[in-house]
Amino acid sequence: MTPLLVLATRNRHKVAELVRILDGVAVDVVSGLDLDLPDVEETGETFAENAMLKARAGFAATGLACLADDSGIVVDALGGAPGVRSARYAGAHGDDDANLALLVERMAGVPDRAARFVCAAALAGPGVEHVEEGTLEGVLASEPRGRGGFGYDPILVPHGEERTCAELAPEEKDAISHRGEAFRAIRPWIARLVAR
Ligand code: IMP
Repeated sequence: MTPLLVLATRNRHKVAELVRILDGVAVDVVSGLDLDLPDVEETGETFAENAMLKARAGFAATGLACLADDSGIVVDALGGAPGVRSARYAGAHGDDDANLALLVERMAGVPDRAARFVCAAALAGPGVEHVEEGTLEGVLASEPRGRGGFGYDPILVPHGEERTCAELAPEEKDAISHRGEAFRAIRPWIARLVAR
């Protein structure tokens, strides 16, 4: 039987990205879209702490190895905000449109446009706890552009690109993304867990 790995997220965009990134690792995956996973309060001060809180809670609830991420956008001119508060920047958790609109408003006319996506990927399973981080450096466009991706994708232009993340094909984003980097780094840990 192929081992089962839990993806501790209900965000269908993240599930789709993770399934693409984990392609080739010999595990079947289930996610928070199919399982009733506990709601975890993101009380950590870092992406790594929050990712591990979610992975541990998923492992405790299911008994299955669990992979979780915590991610967001870090803007230099805003002192690192929204940071770990990216999902609730405008108030309600997960209101992507409102969060993006607030960031555009706060950055209107600000000359320093440097920003990055950050992702921490955490794995918690029998005898294993491990976290990896990835970043995608870029600059903020003055107006959101593009219809792909999710969240803050329409505003971040990766270094070396003229397009925003929402204008990239999914595979182009995966190849350079914070989530791609973090989860590619954690793949060997999953493979090791599965091989036991
Ligand atoms: P999390 O679910 O707590 O990790 O929240 C992440 C927050 O950052 C949400 O507001 C997401 O929309 C945003 N975010 C995370 N990754 C990305 C990305 O790849 N593109 C755009 N926004 C992202």
